[in-house]
Amino acid sequence: MLPPHGRFAPSPTGTLHLGNLRTALLAWLFARSQDARFLMRVEDLDTGRVRREHETQQLADLAAIGLDWDGDVVRQSERLDLYADAVARLDADGLLYPCWCTRREIREAASAPHGALPEGAYPGTCRDLTAAERAARERSGRPPALRLHAGSARVTFDDRLLGPLEGVVDDLVIRRNDGAPAYNLAVVVDDAAQHIGEVVRGADLADSTPRQLLLARLLGLEPAPRYAHVPLVLGPDGARLAKRHGSVTLADRRALGESAEQVRGLLAAGVGLAAPGEAPSMRDLLDRFDPARLPTEPTTFDAAVG
Ligand code: GLU
Repeated sequence: MLPPHGRFAPSPTGTLHLGNLRTALLAWLFARSQDARFLMRVEDLDTGRVRREHETQQLADLAAIGLDWDGDVVRQSERLDLYADAVARLDADGLLYPCWCTRREIREAASAPHGALPEGAYPGTCRDLTAAERAARERSGRPPALRLHAGSARVTFDDRLLGPLEGVVDDLVIRRNDGAPAYNLAVVVDDAAQHIGEVVRGADLADSTPRQLLLARLLGLEPAPRYAHVPLVLGPDGARLAKRHGSVTLADRRALGESAEQVRGLLAAGVGLAAPGEAPSMRDLLDRFDPARLPTEPTTFDAAVG
C-alpha cells in the first residue's frame, strides 16, 4: 500500500477564501490524524492567471491558520519535463489526437444530444476528421490541443465522504493549445510521483475524479489515491463563496479584528469541529477530528453574521 501522504494543491490565481482555507485545514487534518506526511503543491501552470505574489500570500495565510507541511513547496511550473514525458507516453500508445476546436465551437456542438456523455462534454468533433478536414485545420495555423481517446469510459470510485460515485469520461484535453499540460494530466502525474495516498479537496472537483482515475490507469500509475471530497462553502445566495460575498478572506477577517486563531475557529465551526466563537488549537482539532462525522452537504457562510 502507498504511504497515505496528503496534500493541498492551491492555484495561485487569487486570494484563498474561507472555503479554500477550510478545505486546506481538512486536508491537513485527514493527513495528520493518520500520522501521514502533508505536502504543499502549487499548481501554477496557468501562466496567464498565476501571480507569484498570490502564491506568497496563500502560503502565508495557510501558515497563519496553523498548517504546516513537509519538505519544500513543489511548483508544477518546475516539473514540465514530467508532464511532457506522460504526454509522450500517451501519444506513443496512440491515445491522443489533435483538436482545433474553439470553446465556442465546443459549446455549440455540445448542445446537441450525444448519448452517454454528460452535459458540456467534448462531443468528439476532431476525433474522426477526414484527411481533407484535417488538412484544412492544419492550414489554419491555429495550434491544436491534444485530447485523449477516452472511449466514453465509465469510471466508478468510492469517495471516502460521498460514497460510490461514477462518471463517463469524455475526450479531455491533455495538452492545451498553448503547449501547457492540462490540469488533469499534471494532477495525476504529481499525485503519483509524490506518493499521495489520499486526495482531500473540494467537492467541486469530484467530477474530475473519473477523468483522473482513467488517466492514472492509462499511464500505469496505479494504485490511484483514495479520494475524499469535502463540502464547499456557499454564500447566503447559495452560490459558491466568492469575493462579492463580503469579508471572506483572512485579511478581510483580520480587518474586522479577528485573529488567525479565531478564523480557524470559524472554519472549524462550519464543519462541527468547534462551537460558535470558540478558537480551538490545531491539537484540539486533531483530537476531535473524525471523518465519519463531517458534513457531506455544502455549508453556508454569511459574512454579515460571521
Ligand atoms: N489546483 C486545484 C484548485 O485550486 C486543486 C487541484 C486538486 O486538489 O486536485 O482548484
